[in-house]
Amino acid sequence: MSNQNFRSILTGSFSTPCADNPTVAMIEAAYRHAGLDARYINCDVKAGNLAAAVRGAVAMEWVGFNCSLPHKVAVIEYLDELAEAARIIGAVNCVAIRDGRLVGNNTDGKGFLASLREVIDPAGKKVFLLGAGGAARAIAVELGLADVAHITVVNRDPAKAETIAALVRDNTKSDATARPWVGNARVPEGTDIVINATSVGLGDADAMVEVDPDTLAKGQVVADVIPNPPMTRFLREARQRGCTPLDGLGMLVNQGVIGVELWLGATLDAGVMKQTLRDIFGASDAG
Ligand code: NDP
Repeated sequence: MSNQNFRSILTGSFSTPCADNPTVAMIEAAYRHAGLDARYINCDVKAGNLAAAVRGAVAMEWVGFNCSLPHKVAVIEYLDELAEAARIIGAVNCVAIRDGRLVGNNTDGKGFLASLREVIDPAGKKVFLLGAGGAARAIAVELGLADVAHITVVNRDPAKAETIAALVRDNTKSDATARPWVGNARVPEGTDIVINATSVGLGDADAMVEVDPDTLAKGQVVADVIPNPPMTRFLREARQRGCTPLDGLGMLVNQGVIGVELWLGATLDAGVMKQTLRDIFGASDAG
């Protein structure tokens, strides 16, 4: 009998469709780099099969899984506990399984914050946030928990912007206001951080979010959640005006790092993960 171990640690993702999600390549490259005998299984789970998939993960003693669309809210009813930000956001994209107990987290906003902290300390800063979907909601709550001074949430549908602003005001020490997005948005003077959290730019390097780029100010941090292509037109316009651009690859990599820390207690190599995504997206450092 051999005393080798042929049983891998199991992690993965439940979503549908899932075939275009590169997270498996990013995380398995980092598992290999760390010498970890762990797998990340990318599973296509239809809405009606979520309960069975969660039970299956527990039965097979997975240590955790990510949830993407359409499961981020639906998964909550199968969990035993929620981390603070996930409770406030009302959505879970990362579940840790310990002794059969399921704990829900939201690593989207945390991934963004980890990326942002590489260029600026958000505490006390003024933020202009474009969009009010799931990504914007997670980012706004984490910015609030990180004690930003004020967030202006701008969205075409103003009711969604107000919901997020109220969430920040009611659950964190930060102030927030909502604004309807009409025509070319102007970034207010005194803004420290501008964030595109809309889907504009995804898969289209020429698409420009409706913002007057001449209202961006030198020295501002301008961030985009779009991971592919990473150097969006918005970020290129910002860079030309002396702003510090922050691409969506950092958010994607960091939410992966944070998820694996929750599951395995191991910190993966962010550089290996980012390079894997760059290779997949065919992106250079310059974008
Ligand atoms: P949602 O569908 O929940 O929200 C989309 C948002 O974009 C809404 O606020 C919508 O406004 C706005 N929007 C869409 N088109 C336009 C437009 N033409 N002009 C102005 N606003 C527009 O999506 P998510 O929040 O889940 O995701 C948003 C983006 O974030 C996606 O592209 C996704 O790839 C990216 N993302 C990146 C992550 C990363 O790790 N880098 C993680 C998660 C998401 P309205 O409400 O008015 O329709």
